Amino acid sequence: MIPQYPLYINGEFKVTGEKQKIFNPSTGQVIAEASVASSQDVESAIAGARMAFDSGPWPKLSFEERKTFLLKISQGILSKAGELANLETLNTGKPIKESTFMDIPSAAKVFEDLANNFERYLADETIEISSQISKAQASLAREPMGVVALIVPWNYPLLIACWKLASALAAGNTVILKPSSLTPLSVLELAKIIHEAGLPKGVVNIVNGGGAKIGELLCSDKRVDMVSFTGSNEVGRKILQYSSKNVKKLIMELGGKSASIVLADADLELAVNGSLCSIFLNQGQMCTAMSRIFVEEKIYDTFVASFVEKAKRIKLGDGSDFETQMGPLISDAQRKKVSDYVETARRQGAKILCGGKIPSDANLKTGFFFEPTVIADVTADMAVFIEEIFGPVACISRFSGVDEAVSLANCSDFGLAACIWSNNKKLNEDLAKKINAGTIWVNTYGMFFNELPYGGFKQSGFGKELGREGFLEYTRLKNVVIDKSQDAKPLVNYWYGF
Ligand code: NAD
Repeated sequence: MIPQYPLYINGEFKVTGEKQKIFNPSTGQVIAEASVASSQDVESAIAGARMAFDSGPWPKLSFEERKTFLLKISQGILSKAGELANLETLNTGKPIKESTFMDIPSAAKVFEDLANNFERYLADETIEISSQISKAQASLAREPMGVVALIVPWNYPLLIACWKLASALAAGNTVILKPSSLTPLSVLELAKIIHEAGLPKGVVNIVNGGGAKIGELLCSDKRVDMVSFTGSNEVGRKILQYSSKNVKKLIMELGGKSASIVLADADLELAVNGSLCSIFLNQGQMCTAMSRIFVEEKIYDTFVASFVEKAKRIKLGDGSDFETQMGPLISDAQRKKVSDYVETARRQGAKILCGGKIPSDANLKTGFFFEPTVIADVTADMAVFIEEIFGPVACISRFSGVDEAVSLANCSDFGLAACIWSNNKKLNEDLAKKINAGTIWVNTYGMFFNELPYGGFKQSGFGKELGREGFLEYTRLKNVVIDKSQDAKPLVNYWYGF
């Protein structure tokens, strides 16, 4: 019998009449059925979360009590780490090595780190203020936002959900979490961990289903105080519209077209290996993928030759094989989108140096595989330079001089992340200042820390995830002012001192 994944609403698991088939992208086979939330289910989730916030114990718990719950969730994830890693790989196709050593332990760690830090992040501040006619003492207090909708994508299903969930819960909010309907399994499995941890009912609700319907219901409902969204710009724009009806607080973590700059003095082997990771990990389906690689003229040919030689050696295969270095794309539709970009680049005059097609290996026939692709001589007017591809496609261009590198890197509507590969410390600092992106990695790629706020500039969105700043996004700031005018007249008597 095919495994069934119910929704989690107001402390109860609910199997719905409508079910959706969930596929393994490595094989194209159905691996599970997930319940799909109806409008009534979404209504119950919103009502449950609202009630849990307004009348339930969660926002009023002591820090110590809330910390205990967060640690229980972290331990619950760790105790099922193997099972969750397998499930994540089965549902996304990502190499099991990545799920095992990155996605799942990082998901557990974010709950642990927030449990240990949130009290410090929430510390009240008192400030003394005076003007010519008055003196006051004000305390600044951080309160939870209320009911928060968390809408997450399919590329890191559990990890991104946990980034948001851990912050929202630590701050005392109640939540409705909507996974991508392509990859709901690990998040629906997390529901069991949350249930076993004994969180009060209604604090966490998980509704699966089509984004258009559920997303609009969540974002346009005035009982939802905030929406934290990670996904595409296309959907992000819709969420801005829905949420404008009742002026919600939003966090928008959107797309990217990140740039990697390789200078002539870089450690070439490190720069090549790092650049391979930066575009081919997770099949290039990363918001921070360095899909534009700019290489200084002097080393361009050597860099490209080494990059292509190594790209050809990347081992494609079923995600669940520990030897696999690159799995399939998430769906046939995504593969078609990626393939169309490569064809457009070819038509526009770029050189396809390797890949660019579906692999011929009979073992990979039924999955949604696409070869690691390297496109050279990409220019700023080409679609592959401008738009997010979200697949294993590296676009390499040459530059001469640092000014040209900066201008090419900044020639984008996005501003999520960038890499700099050079041994010149001063130059690295200078470039880091000039590049318009929220995260700059120097001689490395993909180092995320729970203490570091992460989020993009320009059309990559607004608001931060992680770190103190990311956590504080899930709070609202209140100031309480006490008149301390002492000898002078209290301010209100100054005007109407009858
Ligand atoms: P998507 O925008 O298609 O979907 C994201 C989520 O929104 C899903 O849960 C989906 O069901 C839901 N959704 C769809 N239509 C909706 C609607 N009308 N209203 C509300 N919600 C709706 O994105 P995706 O394809 O799942 O993910 C890929 C995108 O996510 C890429 O653009 C990538 O760059 C971006 N991303 C950004 C970050 C970041 O931190 N900036 C991280 C990961 C992914």
